[in-house]
Amino acid sequence: MIHTEVVIFGKGIAGLILSFLLSRNNIKHVIIDRSGEGKTFGYGETLPPSALPLLQRLGLLQLFEENSYRKTFGYHSYWGSDQVTNINFYHHHPFKNGLKINKQKILSALEKAAQSKIISYCKSATTSYKSTGIQSILLDGKTEVQGNLFVDATGRKRALLKMFNIDSIAFDPLISFSCHLPKLKHSKLVHEVYVESFEQGWGIVSALNKIENVFSIFTIKRSQAHKGLGKYENWKSILSDTKYSKDFLVDKIHPKIIGGNSNSSKPQKVTGENWLALGDAAMAFDPLSSHGITNAIYTAMIATDSIKQKLIDNDSNALTIYEDTINQIFDQYLSSKNQLYVSERRWNDSPFWKVFMLESLLHEP
Ligand SMILES: Cc1cc2nc3c(=O)[nH]c(=O)nc-3n(C[C@H](O)[C@H](O)[C@H](O)COP(=O)(O)OP(=O)(O)OC[C@H]3O[C@@H](n4cnc5c(N)ncnc54)[C@H](O)[C@@H]3O)c2cc1C
Repeated sequence: MIHTEVVIFGKGIAGLILSFLLSRNNIKHVIIDRSGEGKTFGYGETLPPSALPLLQRLGLLQLFEENSYRKTFGYHSYWGSDQVTNINFYHHHPFKNGLKINKQKILSALEKAAQSKIISYCKSATTSYKSTGIQSILLDGKTEVQGNLFVDATGRKRALLKMFNIDSIAFDPLISFSCHLPKLKHSKLVHEVYVESFEQGWGIVSALNKIENVFSIFTIKRSQAHKGLGKYENWKSILSDTKYSKDFLVDKIHPKIIGGNSNSSKPQKVTGENWLALGDAAMAFDPLSSHGITNAIYTAMIATDSIKQKLIDNDSNALTIYEDTINQIFDQYLSSKNQLYVSERRWNDSPFWKVFMLESLLHEP
């Protein structure tokens, strides 16, 4: 049997940053990881300039910079009008750049920096629960892990929350299809990040490094595009009416397409007697926001403070305050995300844009 203070379920960015911060505060903890989760697909997530002061405050800026593909200095957007806009980070303060991160490398560096104790399991994880909260987690029917506080950092899977039947609320049905392509540099675009909306959804293509682009298309199951996007050979016809996105496609290749959920969602509860959720498990953002990783970092930071207040100061309100903060952030996020979608009015009759228009009406502040 293992006994510790904090048990973190999941070793993505959120779980590992929490581990890093708990180590720095001398709070004993373990991470539970499921072996065989597979290699992380390189989405080449972009961190906006506004995320860099947060990393600096946590002493993690250098780690992120050293393990990123490159700096980003802006992006182009073809959204809501027939003009391509150039969004330049030059006027941002104090950082005039964002980062195109290499998540796999950052995860390895964080694991090393946190010196996290990791317990892996293969098949089953079950919790024993009493009125005072979670007592322990039993892994593969043999390893029992006891703790004073449990954390769900399993991303959109919300594995711990599912164990006590906490449902998720989906705010839209957005799904994504992504692949890596040989890099093509567009003659009309300065920045190597390009976002474009089209009748059946929207897409983002960005350079990972000197040889590869990553291309993601976002749509809904009810769209015509959805049926074909699983096969790369259909992308050319699906994107045929786009302004520049189609130019990034390369003929005679067969890249692997990775599909998944990309919608805005939140569990019904983010904390309980002795547990909390963070990162995507607490609130999952639409990738259009570019704030999923920032959310993972920020929630790990405020969760660390709440854990200290609960375990060291015996503050019984600590988790409730954490939950209130999460709810406030999510409401603000939802409102700005909805504004972005309603600013696109060119295809009011398309099933895709109708869904997002309706969603914004339902959740008007
Ligand atoms: C196509 C796409 C593009 C994106 N682009 C951006 C972007 O440009 N900028 C940005 O900031 N964000 C972006 N995001 C979002 C970003 O990737 C996520 O918000 C972020 O990775 C969430 O981190 P996390 O640690 O909360 O969850 P995850 O990264 O999902 O980590 C969860 C961890 O839990 C583990 N796990 C899962 N189930 C179990 C289980 N049962 N037991 C134990 N462990 C488990 C997983 O293996 C994983 O290690 C994008 C997402 C998508 C899909």
